[in-house]
Amino acid sequence: MKPNPIVATVDFEADGVQHGFLRLPWSRDESAWGNLMIPIAVIKNGSGPTALLSGGNHGDEYEGPIALVDLANRLSVGDVSGRVIIVPYMNYPAFQAARRVSPVDGLNMNRIFPGRPDGTITEKIADYFQRTLLPMADYVLDFHSGGRSLDFVPFAACHVLSDKDQQTRSVAARDAFGAPYAMTMLEIDATGMYDTAAEELGRVFVTTEIGGGGTATASTVGIARRGVANFLKHAGILAGDIERSPSIELEMSGPDCFCFSQARGLVEPVVDLGETVRTGDLLVRIHLIDRLGAPPEEYRARMGGILAARHFSGLAATGDCLAVVATRKT
Ligand code: CA
Repeated sequence: MKPNPIVATVDFEADGVQHGFLRLPWSRDESAWGNLMIPIAVIKNGSGPTALLSGGNHGDEYEGPIALVDLANRLSVGDVSGRVIIVPYMNYPAFQAARRVSPVDGLNMNRIFPGRPDGTITEKIADYFQRTLLPMADYVLDFHSGGRSLDFVPFAACHVLSDKDQQTRSVAARDAFGAPYAMTMLEIDATGMYDTAAEELGRVFVTTEIGGGGTATASTVGIARRGVANFLKHAGILAGDIERSPSIELEMSGPDCFCFSQARGLVEPVVDLGETVRTGDLLVRIHLIDRLGAPPEEYRARMGGILAARHFSGLAATGDCLAVVATRKT
């Protein structure tokens, strides 16, 4: 396979604190021989495990970038045993545009792994994570939130994996993160996800959904900050005790979790995030907006649990995800 065109201005093998860039040649109208300069920090002290921390996989999700910028600016070499690699804005063009997908090529970073070294901008970034960054890492944390169109109860998550030993190690890292909710997910279609790429390489992988709506709150930022510090302590990279607090264990185990809109209209939430629902409970009404006198469409829970995610904006399109119910693990 062709080499990746990205050049790192940091030395991954050097001890110390480095703030640099992943420089990706990007020829365009505004800059004929220009580059996309993706910020990266590497903090290394001797031998030890490597943690790869990323945010901005989707560009309109903010808790991860905030926590990681703060971490990159605060960590000193003496704090670390091993290596921390921080990329707060993985899909940097999407992040700069405050969009989920890249405005350059229209691609969703989390659906195109393993990427391509001779592909578009987003595919080249994915290929660099796949073939350069992931192989260096032992522990991988990728921050997500709901973005503009979804809002979540704050959780850290790992997946159902065929390698149960790997799943156990990922569950331990997820629980160390210490979000208010701890989720185990079975993806409906895991193809092309960064998660899957990291897991197939045998890495301990944790992802999150911490809030949403295309913004962050003081509370959700606090969860992200504490979570990443706990994750690094769990990996043995930062010293100190993990700040433990109880998490509610949840499971998303199949298609019955999801509720998708079959109409365009005005969203009336009937249940709020974190509330308990039973099978058949009304979750959302969609009021038709092109006329009066028609009854609203009603969307009901197909399984019991808690409302873990909801449509964020006040108007829904046909096909939008309106609600996600997760079951409580007992
Ligand atoms: Ca996301």
